Amino acid sequence: MKIIEPTIEVEDVDYKNIMKILERACRTCYRSEGNITEESYKTLLKNCITRGHESILEHEKITIRMVCDVGVYKDLTRHRIASFSIESTRYCNYGKDKFDNQIKFIRPVNIEENTELYKKWYDTCEVIEKNYLEMAKLGAEPDQLRMLLPHSTAALVTMTANIREWKHIMELRCTKHAHPAIRQLLIPLLLKFKKEMPEIFENIEYDENFEKEKYAKITIM
Ligand SMILES: Cc1cc2nc3c(=O)[nH]c(=O)nc-3n(C[C@H](O)[C@H](O)[C@H](O)COP(=O)(O)OP(=O)(O)OC[C@H]3O[C@@H](n4cnc5c(N)ncnc54)[C@H](O)[C@@H]3O)c2cc1C
Repeated sequence: MKIIEPTIEVEDVDYKNIMKILERACRTCYRSEGNITEESYKTLLKNCITRGHESILEHEKITIRMVCDVGVYKDLTRHRIASFSIESTRYCNYGKDKFDNQIKFIRPVNIEENTELYKKWYDTCEVIEKNYLEMAKLGAEPDQLRMLLPHSTAALVTMTANIREWKHIMELRCTKHAHPAIRQLLIPLLLKFKKEMPEIFENIEYDENFEKEKYAKITIM
């Protein structure tokens, strides 16, 4: 059994180019393509967002890849205007050499280590893994084995959404109302988007009290 941290990778995109593509699409509405300058996208995008003219944000998308737990992807896959490819518990048999004959669990962000609670969580994962591997040895298929897997099980997820949907997801999933494990992954992504595309993301609020030391590591794909 291995306890791992969640991670998030974001594809290597030219954020300024994305915003310029959105501007070009938007200017179709006003036939004002002639007004495009190096910096004109900034005011245009801000004005559109202030007025709720957000469909123009749908012309570009961003893909991320993350290692998260089942609970996180269960919540994120509720977002219908996004696309997902997720490590399948129906096809992956963690009893095989390919997976080092072990189950990976995400360290729970909301249970402190060295506490009774953590010990209970850890012991439970250990029992689950033991029984999973024993069932695998008895010839159980992943379809049968997966029924033992808890929300803490780690999975690799590739997720793509257009800019409008990312904005919507951030608005819902970075506040204190969202599960801490989602905040742990998406707040760092939101901060990246705020830095790279301030005209679109700067006004999105997030849980500023979430401990920065607990942010998932974010890298470029
Ligand atoms: C804090 C929190 C707690 C939650 N708790 C629960 C819970 O206890 N139980 C539960 O089942 N879910 C829960 N959810 C999930 C939530 O209800 C939504 O299913 C999820 O957040 C997806 O967001 P969404 O519906 O806004 O839109 P998305 O699927 O991301 O779609 C984006 C937008 O498109 C529009 N849209 C999409 N589909 C339709 C449609 N069919 N009709 C009309 N408009 C549409 C809406 O404007 C929507 O906001 C929770 C979410 C949050 C953030």
